[in-house]
Amino acid sequence: MRVLVTGGAGYIGSVVTAELLARGHDVIVVDDLSTGHADAVAPEARFHRAGVTQLSDVLGDWSVDAVLHFAAKSLVSESVQHPARYWHNNVTGTIALLDAMRAHGVDRIVFSSSAATYGDVSDMPIYEDAPTRPTSPYGASKLAVDLALADYARAYGLAAVSLRYFNVAGALHQPDGRSYGERHATETHLIPLALRAAAGDSEPLSIFGTDYPTPDGTCVRDYIHVVDLADAHVRALTAAIAGEHQIVNLGSGSGYSVRQVLQAVRAVTGLSVPVRDASRRPGDPARLVAANTRALALLDWRPTRGLDAMVSDAWAFTRR
Ligand code: UDP
Repeated sequence: MRVLVTGGAGYIGSVVTAELLARGHDVIVVDDLSTGHADAVAPEARFHRAGVTQLSDVLGDWSVDAVLHFAAKSLVSESVQHPARYWHNNVTGTIALLDAMRAHGVDRIVFSSSAATYGDVSDMPIYEDAPTRPTSPYGASKLAVDLALADYARAYGLAAVSLRYFNVAGALHQPDGRSYGERHATETHLIPLALRAAAGDSEPLSIFGTDYPTPDGTCVRDYIHVVDLADAHVRALTAAIAGEHQIVNLGSGSGYSVRQVLQAVRAVTGLSVPVRDASRRPGDPARLVAANTRALALLDWRPTRGLDAMVSDAWAFTRR
């Protein structure tokens, strides 16, 4: 298949690009490099530096079979301060992409949605039909695109899948020695920050909230390895059905607390992780765990790599 990957110079997009190429697909990456890195794009992919509103030429020049759409802004706290950036980039930008796809007869898309579309849910695990009440403009922007995809699928025959990620971690290390992983200029995620603290490259890690109603008082999240996530994208490309919009959670179905993640970081690195207790981060729910039965049913997908593999692959990537 010839696949256009938007945001293919970012963390998840670069891993998925490498996996698509390894499975023999032809890949065209577009990325505006606002947060991505040109050298994260596998050399076998064609690369165009462009924003998602500028894709008409690319779609016109290449007979693209499907689009994997990762390009988006993804910092929850930034979205609260600057919602316009999120509504413009993530929503208006995606509508422009969908219209360019229609104009050029490209009728298949897999969209990078998020567990942030659900917001603070009380019933665990979270199924895809749970209420969607996002607690940030970031989550709202992902939900808005999911709603648009449902309309475009129904009216225009688009084949669309929204993959709702839970907490993605880890890196891809290929047999040829190349690696793809997380290199955010502004890092907010627990595992990379804990690895930096363990390496002595940063301040002690702040544990955001120790008084949650969870077994050890810290937040529980569902972590998924980026290589498992990439595998689900490749499967979704062929599972998408014309005229249908399918929503699929991607998580492991198990939760780990912040303290359990820190314990995994200690075990994998053999280092201590300096920490300090801090107040809760606004908008963080106590517990988020995916129900992943739909991923199994629709994509024949199940996660194969656990928390230790995520931490050790991320650690190897940062030590490169
Ligand atoms: N977290 C933390 N300290 C940090 C970063 C994150 O305690 O420096 C906690 C955060 O409150 C959440 C969990 O780690 O409970 C995962 O946060 P992350 O930002 O990695 O992902 P999110 O769940 O927000 O998508």
